[in-house]
Amino acid sequence: MGAQGFTVTAYVVRRVATGESDLVLSLFTRERGRLDAYARAGRKSRRRFQAGLSPCLLYQGLLVPARRGSLWSLEEMTVARPAQLLVTRPARMVAGQYASELARELCPPEVPEPEVFSVFDAFLVRLDRPPAPTWRDWIRFERDLLSAAGVAPELGCCVACRRAPPGDGWGFSVAAGGLLCPACGRGQSMPVWDPAWNGIESDVSDVSDVSDVSDVSDMSDLLGAWIFTVLNKKLHARGLCRSVFAGPTGW
Ligand SMILES: [Zn+2]
Repeated sequence: MGAQGFTVTAYVVRRVATGESDLVLSLFTRERGRLDAYARAGRKSRRRFQAGLSPCLLYQGLLVPARRGSLWSLEEMTVARPAQLLVTRPARMVAGQYASELARELCPPEVPEPEVFSVFDAFLVRLDRPPAPTWRDWIRFERDLLSAAGVAPELGCCVACRRAPPGDGWGFSVAAGGLLCPACGRGQSMPVWDPAWNGIESDVSDVSDVSDVSDVSDMSDLLGAWIFTVLNKKLHARGLCRSVFAGPTGW
């Protein structure tokens, strides 16, 4: 390959078929953030492109500058880490595809986002492990990813007066940027914050799970409203992902 080629550690976060057997891909790379690439014969060549350029798989790829246009040309991609459980369980793939969509939308093109990448990568590793992921895994992923991207809501204290910890009568205000205590939020109509959600995402060593699933799905909906505002668009995969987490366990 030419001197200008470079290798990336990457996930495929979008694939669009074009031509007879080509693909236009968005790659989320550890080295250079999100970038778009053209894969000639991407739907055909299993020798150059392993495992069908599947989403949710960690790859090692070789990129070179395209002869024309702004896309990179993807020369080859090999699977860097198999994910046997993840790729064979549709519900886990739903969660992985949503994670891919969120990471893709949060990252501007061609800007390295190593912290976002490592949060994303850790969630994909988790999705490949038994037992089935929980609400807490999902909430932790979203909050960590938003933090890494610098757009997390304040959930540790009152946004206005910094009082902590959140208690009864507190609410969540997208407009304010997070939680408001009863004094600061007086007169405002906003969704209630349940103090049972405090620290739900923190990296506690005990693995006891949040038992009240419906309460946590309410919290997840607050994050959903937040993400909608941050991105100014609806992520359709999020609704699908929510229904997977709300459904039967053991997936
Ligand atoms: Zn306050």
